[in-house]
Amino acid sequence: MQDFDLVVVGAGVAGLTAAAFAARYGLKVVVVERMGAGGQIVNAESIENFPGFPRGIAGHELGPLLHEQAETAGAEVRLDSVEAIELAGAHRIVRAAAEALRARAVIIAAGSAPRALGVPGEEALHGRGVSHCAACDGPLLAAQEVCVIGGGDSALDEALVLARHAARVTVFHREARFTAQQALQDKAAATRGIELSPETSVEEILGPDTVCGVRLRALRTGESRVQEVKGVFIQVGLAPNTAFLRGMLALDASGHIQTDALMRTSVEGIFAAGDIRTDSVAQLAAAAGDGATAAISAFRYLGHAE
Ligand code: NAP
Repeated sequence: MQDFDLVVVGAGVAGLTAAAFAARYGLKVVVVERMGAGGQIVNAESIENFPGFPRGIAGHELGPLLHEQAETAGAEVRLDSVEAIELAGAHRIVRAAAEALRARAVIIAAGSAPRALGVPGEEALHGRGVSHCAACDGPLLAAQEVCVIGGGDSALDEALVLARHAARVTVFHREARFTAQQALQDKAAATRGIELSPETSVEEILGPDTVCGVRLRALRTGESRVQEVKGVFIQVGLAPNTAFLRGMLALDASGHIQTDALMRTSVEGIFAAGDIRTDSVAQLAAAAGDGATAAISAFRYLGHAE
């Protein structure tokens, strides 16, 4: 088993920032990531609210830059899937599919995944018209009618990407008001081909082999109708990737890791950063801040300061 000062779980913005900071503090750091460096941002076409990029930056450009910065600082990044974390006296053992890593401190920055809507047809048609990724699947639906479900930043981001390909993008939201940032609402309102449909719930996704439509209910009138669409992009929030931690440290009712302001969890030597933790605002700039705080907390915990 290989020894490190710090294992970081997850190579998104929070994890890579934590790794870069910790390595610059002189810690021996390894980052374990199951997909590829960058995390959720890799599919974002243009990130316009990360400091330092006034004209925006594509996620597939920012991810590798963060990766490079962490490695340049001295951190190592390995591809593997973490399955459990165990305590062994002063050590924490991070068990991944291919190997186990031992360290005295761990930062969990494993992020979150899109939540399911939970309606009939969703599971069966996943990958056959139902998607969580406009950048991946939007081009396959060129000149088709598609819809997005949700009213937050992700839903409108998704609609803006889809509008470049689809004939029409309808955004169905169950509330009267969208909660996305005003900048995104303004951009969506000004984009040809995007229609916002508030107070509408999607009750079923229709197949049978590929998506052919959605069954809707108008929440004001109770009226039900079917709209033909070939693609359904579900953006109804994020679920934290904490299944592998259940019973190991304190999670809140929604499964997020509870931390204090120094990113300390309920277990000594284990820190959390980014949108995996309770009260995260789930913004990239905040994830970077969490990562920096967690790294400095870990450094202090390891007895190198104070
Ligand atoms: P979110 O802000 O939690 O919004 C989820 C949306 O889905 C809400 O409109 C919610 O409606 C709706 N919803 C939830 N459950 C539903 C259900 N069962 N049926 C129908 N609608 C449902 O999630 P998000 O948009 O994925 O964003 C997550 C976080 O990431 C946010 O903090 C966001 O700011 C951040 N983010 C930022 C950017 C950016 O800066 N460009 C991009 C993406 C995400 P209700 O209000 O009725 O619950």
